[in-house]
Amino acid sequence: MIARHAVLVIDGAGRPWIDLLVEVLGRPLLDFVILNYAGLGFRSVTLVAPLGYPGLDRWTASRIGDADVTTVTYAGEGPLAFVGRLGAPVRGPILLARADKLVDGLERFIAHPQPAGAPGRVLAGADPIVWLLDAEVLWSCLADAGPDWTAALKRIGLVPWFDHGSVLDLGGPGLQGPAALARRFHRPAVFLDRDGVINIDRGYTFRVEDLAFTPTALDGIRVLNRAGRRVIVVTNQAGVARGYYGLADVDRFHDAIQDKLMAGGAHIDAFYSSPYHPEGIVEAFRQRHEDRKPGAGMLLRAMRDWSIDAHGSVLIGDKDSDMEAAARAGIPGVLVPSDTCDLLAAAQRILGNLAL
Ligand SMILES: [Mg+2]
Repeated sequence: MIARHAVLVIDGAGRPWIDLLVEVLGRPLLDFVILNYAGLGFRSVTLVAPLGYPGLDRWTASRIGDADVTTVTYAGEGPLAFVGRLGAPVRGPILLARADKLVDGLERFIAHPQPAGAPGRVLAGADPIVWLLDAEVLWSCLADAGPDWTAALKRIGLVPWFDHGSVLDLGGPGLQGPAALARRFHRPAVFLDRDGVINIDRGYTFRVEDLAFTPTALDGIRVLNRAGRRVIVVTNQAGVARGYYGLADVDRFHDAIQDKLMAGGAHIDAFYSSPYHPEGIVEAFRQRHEDRKPGAGMLLRAMRDWSIDAHGSVLIGDKDSDMEAAARAGIPGVLVPSDTCDLLAAAQRILGNLAL
């Protein structure tokens, strides 16, 4: 079940609100919570916060990673009761989660097999932390859950998945304090060129039916995910400037890559693409642009957006222009052969810090 919409609930009752607003790496902690979901392919996030939650403007109609964020506020009742009354913001699969718990390896939970016929899945600690269900089922469950959520889950035939190891309480011991949180979120990235590295390069590839991974792309990306590296795609898509296809086609292709990876327990944190070319026919994109590799525009922007630790970051690409972009961004480049590259071997070399 692939969901693209997440509802994150901030509970103002239990703990001081300020937890999610503490500054980490120069931005509020809540940014990193949202990035965690954006990185798993969620394209929209609704933040549910208590009325008067400070600084909520920052996230109102904002964009964090590849996710569009909106906010709603509740007052005078519990957040889940409010969410239940609010109704589902979308149809189809949806994820509902507590914003003060960060799920490490959420892709494992999403890919976790459920008994046949189960309507979705729930990750639980002392109480439900993440619900991934069809929106209609989820909201009917919320409507009559009350305090006894286990009974409500039973009624819809759902077995909660208890995996305490994968849930991080952001206010919990070991993670408290901006310094500990900064260590956790200031991570190196492995930047990946797309065509020829992740998928077979068919020349201006954009049709979903043309998507085929290079031999070990899935395994390589999963190994990087589990090692805590951000995995970020930086791809030139001059086909947009040339009028061969549009930005929506690029998004669709990236969704297809993400779906395929998620089904295998892996994910790309973000996709950056450059639609520019100086000889394009689409006027908006007919220009020299720093985003187009060998420019470093996409790399530098991604490093800012994701608070990437440049030390330990690398770029894997199949062209000299990739290597030059890496050099301009101040990180090493790893050149691999187009289409036949062994991404798993490259990932293992990077993680083993062997000579690149
Ligand atoms: Mg390439």
